[in-house]
Amino acid sequence: MAKSNKVHIIGAGLSGMIAAYNLAKEGYDVLVLEKYGKIGGSVAHHPSTHGTPMGIEYIWDYIGIDLSKYFMASTRLDMFIYEDKFSLIENNNFICERGPRKTAVDRYLYDKCMEVGVKFEFNQDIKDPLDMPDPTIIATGLHKDMQAFLQRPMTRLPVFASRRKLNPGEMDGHLYAWMGDYTRCYGYSAAMNDLQFINFFSDDDLTVIDLKNYEKHIEKSTGLQFDNWNYCEVYAPTASADAPQLFVGSKILSGSLAGSMCPIAFFGIHGALVSGKIAALAVYDPEKAEAELKRVTSNYQAAHKAYVKSKRMAHKTKLKLQRMVLKHPFWGGLLPKPKYAIAGIIDPDPGPIPKYMGTI
Ligand SMILES: Cc1cc2nc3c(=O)[nH]c(=O)nc-3n(C[C@H](O)[C@H](O)[C@H](O)COP(=O)(O)OP(=O)(O)OC[C@H]3O[C@@H](n4cnc5c(N)ncnc54)[C@H](O)[C@@H]3O)c2cc1C
Repeated sequence: MAKSNKVHIIGAGLSGMIAAYNLAKEGYDVLVLEKYGKIGGSVAHHPSTHGTPMGIEYIWDYIGIDLSKYFMASTRLDMFIYEDKFSLIENNNFICERGPRKTAVDRYLYDKCMEVGVKFEFNQDIKDPLDMPDPTIIATGLHKDMQAFLQRPMTRLPVFASRRKLNPGEMDGHLYAWMGDYTRCYGYSAAMNDLQFINFFSDDDLTVIDLKNYEKHIEKSTGLQFDNWNYCEVYAPTASADAPQLFVGSKILSGSLAGSMCPIAFFGIHGALVSGKIAALAVYDPEKAEAELKRVTSNYQAAHKAYVKSKRMAHKTKLKLQRMVLKHPFWGGLLPKPKYAIAGIIDPDPGPIPKYMGTI
């Protein structure tokens, strides 16, 4: 056990609550400090539905909590690159709801934390975590302020997002992704729990004209229409040779703040879950936690190299290549069905580097 039995955790998101739950079960006195007035994070982000490739059973075992009721396997995954459509049948993707609603994974984790005696204080916007007593875990996700304060390398991602209510069961498990000239990244939509969330983001500026072009692409490809778009900005960890990182001084980093996020597709769910468990371990065995982080991110550097390569390509060339890969049956057959996480960025059981790393 660490010197103090009291642990502070900043941020009641995925990784913060996974760490809190595991530490409370080990007998620690855990206090979670959350910026907003209730569970579920910023209203600019949530309620929302997130899609992620993941090997769920393995992850539940690893993080010590079964979240299967809150993750549904996608029933279809259609990708649209310009006018081309690619339906990925065995896609190994899952959808979860985020935010304050009872059907959201955040809310469930909060209830489980309460069951094991974790305490929460809301409306606590922590500015300087370095002043806090050790051990403290910082798990503030994609928010700018903490990344800036800790001088973490970050990339500004402008986001347009919208959500609509569905009829019970309507489009359950439907995942769509769109790519085109309107963004250097992509847009996606995911539906579950009678909620369809859609967004698109870029690592460059987005304009209303880009939004109009995105709307046109969505309508032409699927017939779907969305209005009530909101704009916000999130800050993703910039892929770098030494990310993810577990410590800043004596403070423990967790989740997206720690860089536990895919540098290619910006998937962050599995990274947050797994790194929450590692952050808990760092409280009482920092060396083991460092070694564990190294182990589960052993494919990260290959992914980072692919990302750097892809950044050098013109956007159109990149999309052309992606279409070629998806169209060609031979290459299509080589595409891995990721068992645990895309590109093994943060993966409890990293296997060999996926073959398609070289093709991006
Ligand atoms: C709109 C949107 C869509 C996304 N879609 C996907 C997707 O489809 N697939 C995917 O894999 N990932 C997606 N992500 C990324 C994913 O949500 C994150 O990677 C993941 O939530 C990170 O978990 P975390 O525990 O690090 O942070 P979070 O779960 O975001 O939790 C951080 C918590 O810290 C709190 N906080 C922030 N600053 C402070 C402070 N100063 N003091 C106290 N509390 C603070 C926040 O309010 C929040 O509750 C998306 C993100 C957004 C915003």
